[in-house]
Amino acid sequence: MDATRAFPACLTIDDAPSEDTTRKLSALEARGIKAIWFCRGEYLDRRPDVAVAIIQKGHVLGNHSWNHPAFSSMRLSKARAQIQRTEALIDLAYSRAGIPRPARLFRFPWGDKGAGTHLERPPEPAGAERVRALQAMLREFGFVQPAFDGVAFPPYPFYDLAGDADTWFTFDAMEWVLVSRKPRDGIDSLDAVLARIDAHLRAKRHDVEARDRGEVVIVHDFEATARTFTPIVDRLVMNGASFSLPHGMLGHRAGGGGR
Ligand SMILES: [Zn+2]
Repeated sequence: MDATRAFPACLTIDDAPSEDTTRKLSALEARGIKAIWFCRGEYLDRRPDVAVAIIQKGHVLGNHSWNHPAFSSMRLSKARAQIQRTEALIDLAYSRAGIPRPARLFRFPWGDKGAGTHLERPPEPAGAERVRALQAMLREFGFVQPAFDGVAFPPYPFYDLAGDADTWFTFDAMEWVLVSRKPRDGIDSLDAVLARIDAHLRAKRHDVEARDRGEVVIVHDFEATARTFTPIVDRLVMNGASFSLPHGMLGHRAGGGGR
């Protein structure tokens, strides 16, 4: 095996909080890792105490809409309501935790910034106006991109991944495929998910320009992917991922012993 080389990474966990969040928090605490949890409002409504626990453990909450609709096919007024209702619950969780909210972060469901999901097809020119309108709405709410360490987002039609107000990613662990019942990209087992991580990071190590770049990793907080979470995190670390929160995002009273 080629020598591992450390690179900066940020762990983002989508579709939280779940019945499995508390276990994930313990696993991350044992490894000294803090993450950004992009929450659905409907789940925050169901598990408000879990949201407070995430904050008190030194992690960050982000907004992932109320119930995960496709933002390319809904009225802008509905999009606003999806964001606003979820913001209210996140603000409430921070207030209950007694910790100031470090930043307003947003991630679009399905990677759909208003012109179609990134997985199914490239964004359509017809959606460019909606993409701009949604970005303007996010800025109005005060959403910002985290200051990721050394991350270079690829160029993408109609999107300014580095300049937009939502939070994008550089590596999707794709473990969600295991619960979707529709194998994709040859992923049909946890082993396949882990092998894909190895392959991605082996290629990264061999690419002089990319090897020191940061990665923004997506995993999910579904109950159904509970058994994949720890193996995925450990495999990323084994391959050199050095996880930390973006600058300025450590909770004031949390993270004892951290920076
Ligand atoms: Zn999601």
